[in-house]
Amino acid sequence: LYVEHPLGAGQSVPLDRGQAHYLFGVMRMAVGGQVKLFNGRDGEWLADIAQAGKRAGLLTCVEQTKLLQMPPDLWLLFAPIKKARTDFIVEKAAEMGAARILPVQTEFTNSERIRRDRLQAHAVEAAEQCGGTYVPQVDELQKLSRLLDHWPEGRQLMFCDEGEVGNALALAAADKSDAPWAILIGPEGGFSDAERKRLHALPQSHVVSLGPRILRADTAAVAAMTLWQQALGD
Ligand code: SAM
Repeated sequence: LYVEHPLGAGQSVPLDRGQAHYLFGVMRMAVGGQVKLFNGRDGEWLADIAQAGKRAGLLTCVEQTKLLQMPPDLWLLFAPIKKARTDFIVEKAAEMGAARILPVQTEFTNSERIRRDRLQAHAVEAAEQCGGTYVPQVDELQKLSRLLDHWPEGRQLMFCDEGEVGNALALAAADKSDAPWAILIGPEGGFSDAERKRLHALPQSHVVSLGPRILRADTAAVAAMTLWQQALGD
């Protein structure tokens, strides 16, 4: 179960209404039972259920069961698409170990707005689902052009573009394996000529093909993360 509260030996952890409903209503747990907790910072802890009510509850941390496992320093940049597909991208990125998820607005971005809190909740659920101890941060929507204006010097960019041939990732992996990385996936309409020019000019950019077929953005995000993991992940 994900909680915001700090975790540590003997630490009391209060539960809010939603968490109490889930544990005691849905999961039918009760005082005397035990539950595993994580908060994205302190690893995983086994906790005793000390109080169980309809609207609240109290847990007491007993022992640490996992240390915090940080994913590689990988960002996923993607242009939001339809709601369900955007949810899918965030969920899969969290499962596959992205450290940070950055929705970006490009010239042809389909959606001008995101619900950051909703996407963050999907990232939490995905981390819960795969037994992770870390939850990637989901950023507010920001302009790709602005992000590129302030692009961090050492961070390499896997720029996924259909119509490209070859895979610059394998080459880059050889001498940039210790660098932090980011993956960029475009919107349904792809990138504009001006954006392509800009991305090709960025010294940290490595243009990558995901194969001869044009993939939907959500498929492309999963394929790109898999390729990256294979070449550079741990
Ligand atoms: N502009 C394209 C069109 O309308 O024909 C489609 C864009 S595609 C649906 C969405 C994004 O997925 C692209 O901007 C790119 O980042 C990524 N993508 C899809 N297929 C790809 C491929 N074969 N190689 C590299 N990137 C791909």
